[in-house]
Amino acid sequence: MNQASAGHLLRLIRGGQARTRGELQRVTGLSRSTVSQRLDQLFRAGWIREAAGDPVDAPTGGRPSLRLTFDTGHAVVLCADLETRHARAAVLDLGGTVLAEHSGALMINQGPDEVLGRLAHWFALLLDKADVRVDAVCGIGLSVPGPVHPVSGEVVQPPMMPGWDRYPVARRLRAALAAELRFDGASRIPVLLENDANLMALAEQRRNFADCSAFLLIKVSTGIGAGVVVGGEIYQGIDGAAGDIGHIRLSEYGYALCRCGFYGCLAAVASGRALAEQLTASGTPTASGSGVRDQLAVGHPDAVRLAREAGRLVGGVLATVVTLINPGVLMIAGDLAGPPFLTGVRETLYQRAMPRTTAYLQVVTSRLGDRAGLVGAAAMVVESLYAPDSADRRLAALAATTPARA
Ligand SMILES: [Zn+2]
Repeated sequence: MNQASAGHLLRLIRGGQARTRGELQRVTGLSRSTVSQRLDQLFRAGWIREAAGDPVDAPTGGRPSLRLTFDTGHAVVLCADLETRHARAAVLDLGGTVLAEHSGALMINQGPDEVLGRLAHWFALLLDKADVRVDAVCGIGLSVPGPVHPVSGEVVQPPMMPGWDRYPVARRLRAALAAELRFDGASRIPVLLENDANLMALAEQRRNFADCSAFLLIKVSTGIGAGVVVGGEIYQGIDGAAGDIGHIRLSEYGYALCRCGFYGCLAAVASGRALAEQLTASGTPTASGSGVRDQLAVGHPDAVRLAREAGRLVGGVLATVVTLINPGVLMIAGDLAGPPFLTGVRETLYQRAMPRTTAYLQVVTSRLGDRAGLVGAAAMVVESLYAPDSADRRLAALAATTPARA
């Protein structure tokens, strides 16, 4: 990587390692004029601002330095968090602030063609609601309830998403959006996909536990999945299958059929869907994970008991996960995240894991709640597009299409 490039300076500014021209010179060893030249590229693109903000450690007696900041308002991202029966979509600025949001029923098992067509329609309405022009959209991020290949970016062999295996999601969504907005440029917008638990983990780690170098999030909604952020990066494994703990099989539950087709999966006995079925069987009709959440919210005794039992089962599996990863934070998120489930998790986790692995472990519930997936999707898109290499490529492309300033 070119350590002196404009993209590299942008990373220092965004990361807070350098907040003024002087600091950029000190950190990079570049001359004053080279720093100015590189910054000019960033100013021309509209990506940064320079203003007298808070005085930043100016040398005593010197003039206060002007502060450089990433301009989070110069573009927007479109993001969607697709769940099995429901979806949430939003326009966000580059700092992850939601500018307009919509949520509603959207069945993932209707297949990608139908779901992405509907989503493009939602995006068009949201841009209108946020009063943002489509040419301000720099990227699209999708959170999906299945594994995503780290290189191809495709959904691969998802247990709960019939019809989505290796489907060209990016191409279909861009085409649908171009048709909705009558804007050919939509066909060039980057579309990035990632697993839902991974994006929730990314969002929560970035926003609330930035110093935690090993962060583990378990999402328990209709299904069960884990997201791991190690050293600041999502840990995907070699083909995106890392964290799919819902389909680990428990020997004592061989009778329970899972949606993936096998018997005895953790998700077949401890997920929101499994609890909904058990509640329904015991006389409380409950449709899905969100239905269980509603029952838990009103303190339904059966729901509370079942959630605690489910927590114990998940905690048993987490004893192994925590021993392997040794995280600083274990966050429980999703429809079941609440005191009964958390109590169950603690019971088996602390009993079965070595005290040394859990001595400094914080077990917490989600801070961002239902928006974690959206915030994570936006962070993924922004971090990808403004990383030094892609920032430099995009700046070069912009310079080629924009006449030079006189
Ligand atoms: Zn399964």
